[in-house]
Amino acid sequence: MPRSFVKEARTRVGPKRERIRPIVERLAVEHADAAIALRFRNPLELLVSVMLSAQTTDVNVNRVTEKLFEKYHRPGDYLAVPQEELERDVFATGFYRQKARSIRGTMRMLLDEFDGEVPRTLDDLVRLPGVARKTANVVSAELGEAEGIVVDTHVRRLSQRLGLTRAEDPVKIERDLVRLVPREDWARFPHLMIWHGRRVCDARRPRCEDCVLVDLCPASRLEVGRV
Ligand code: SF4
Repeated sequence: MPRSFVKEARTRVGPKRERIRPIVERLAVEHADAAIALRFRNPLELLVSVMLSAQTTDVNVNRVTEKLFEKYHRPGDYLAVPQEELERDVFATGFYRQKARSIRGTMRMLLDEFDGEVPRTLDDLVRLPGVARKTANVVSAELGEAEGIVVDTHVRRLSQRLGLTRAEDPVKIERDLVRLVPREDWARFPHLMIWHGRRVCDARRPRCEDCVLVDLCPASRLEVGRV
């Protein structure tokens, strides 16, 4: 989009600080069912599910964990089998060798340093082998201790389209978002973005004509006066 149109569009919708609350409120109504799609029954299953979700779909992870969680209940269960057996059990999620290694390393540390419990703080979670900041953010948010905002491909695309950030790097995008989004919304904000991205604001063909944010979005393809 030419620079003059971008400027005009930003002026039209107003400052992001004034738009963030209506954006969250409208999306919360529109996607009242927005929640994590992974299936888990306790913090350990949550952690394993999120670790397995790298480079694959949540549907695929749920298919695998349905059987996995019948077999592995506690951290020690993942260490009681040979590495190759765990690799076979997580094979369908892809990158199975690396994932099995990370899960076993994480279980070892949970037993050695956290009394077999999943820690809740970001600082502790990122110490676990194979647990990157994004995974840690998802886990801490689901456990009610959000310390940051999860930035995935949908959060990135929508935050940029909505003019909430100009950054490209996920860490910088998160930094912009935590300054803007009210803290009480840090956990649900990514879910709202993800569901809106899947249902309305598609990467290639955003359906602006069906979007509740059309008058708040500088990237809208519609002129608000005509809406
Ligand atoms: S108005 Fe269009 S570009 Fe903006 S958030 Fe909605 S669907 Fe996406």
